[in-house]
Amino acid sequence: MTEPKQSRPKGTQDFTPPDSERRRHVEGVFRHLAECYGYQEIITPTFEHTTVFVKSSGEGSDVVTKEMYSFKDRGDRDLTLRPEGTPGVVRAVIENRLRIPCRLYYVGPFFRYGRPQKGRFREFGQLGLEALGEASPLVDAEIIYFGAGFFEDLGIRDCLVQVNSIGCRACRPAYRNTLRDFLLDRSGQLCADCQVRIERNPLRVFDCKVEACRVAVKDAPTPRQYLCTDCEQHHEQVLSALNRRGLRYEANDRLVRGLDYYNRTTFEYISASLGAQDSLGGGGRYDYLVEELGGPDTPGVGVAIGLERTLLAAPAEPAPARRHSAFVVWLTEAERDAAQELADRLRADGIAAQVDYGARKVKGQFKSADAAQAACCIIIGPDELAKGVYSLKDLATGEQREVASDAINEAVRALFRD
Ligand SMILES: [Zn+2]
Ligand SMILES: [Zn+2]
Repeated sequence: MTEPKQSRPKGTQDFTPPDSERRRHVEGVFRHLAECYGYQEIITPTFEHTTVFVKSSGEGSDVVTKEMYSFKDRGDRDLTLRPEGTPGVVRAVIENRLRIPCRLYYVGPFFRYGRPQKGRFREFGQLGLEALGEASPLVDAEIIYFGAGFFEDLGIRDCLVQVNSIGCRACRPAYRNTLRDFLLDRSGQLCADCQVRIERNPLRVFDCKVEACRVAVKDAPTPRQYLCTDCEQHHEQVLSALNRRGLRYEANDRLVRGLDYYNRTTFEYISASLGAQDSLGGGGRYDYLVEELGGPDTPGVGVAIGLERTLLAAPAEPAPARRHSAFVVWLTEAERDAAQELADRLRADGIAAQVDYGARKVKGQFKSADAAQAACCIIIGPDELAKGVYSLKDLATGEQREVASDAINEAVRALFRD
């Protein structure tokens, strides 16, 4: 099917002002909080060799089998637009030989060929943390707490954390076999995808959205019932660290998450205000991933937060205040150059300033100032020029007064204080 010309591709969106500013605000809150927790930014390419994702997310995962934007470039390389953050970050940590332990955060666009729906796009923003080289359950708890704090900072009040443990290399094989046998007995009730999952990765059946599958696994054995002593202890310590912080969470023993690389802790943030698309994000521990991608044996744990769903869940902002910017208005052609010079001087001092050079009338310039939501107008006419002053009009109050030309920067700044 061809898209109509001059429209954005299906599953993408434009962020026009003020939505672009709302998005930047969310990213800013994330960056600030991540840095408070000692994370530093990592920026990796938006595409990687396809094997990076196949090796980490798992050959049979929905992401790899159905959702990747994969292509061959002109040099016949198999490349994929990144569908998630963790594999590329881990690849970069290994390739650049970063000192371990390291704490990294990322902010950027990701791509999945899924069915577009409310809060879900084919190009989407994700905000993530990766803590590499830290095995302590206290780090799992800290990351879970971080996400809850992030949503709270944005005013999302109804966020609930679900937590689970899915075991380790020692205890998962026995559980897998038990689950596989359970599913084989009921394979007739499962969807075609889940039939394949029984042998490849039976845990994934828990992620299936098909109603018949949900019913079939209702009484299935869960990973928690099969945890080894080490996993059980790790999980207890995660939960007690959350309890110490008074964080509201819910145990969900069917929370396995759809990627192969997780072990032990898995968690998700749920918001009732999102309806069916209720997950704001989530994460877990991935103690084998670094090794599987060719690095040294290194534990890891991380979280990824969906930007669009966060924007949906966050309360609408109050009506925007006027911007910290000035609009320089000239009355006749003779003052236009002076207006431009003043705007330059203000900008050089870090004050946002605009001039409507093409205006035919003063009234039009005031309209432009209002449309730009400027805090004030600085008016230059023949009188002002002769007296060496400017007329400064506060657009919030409508008050106007004369200001000596060398005091204008300070006078404008004083109007910005709110
Ligand atoms: Zn275990
Ligand atoms: Zn199914």
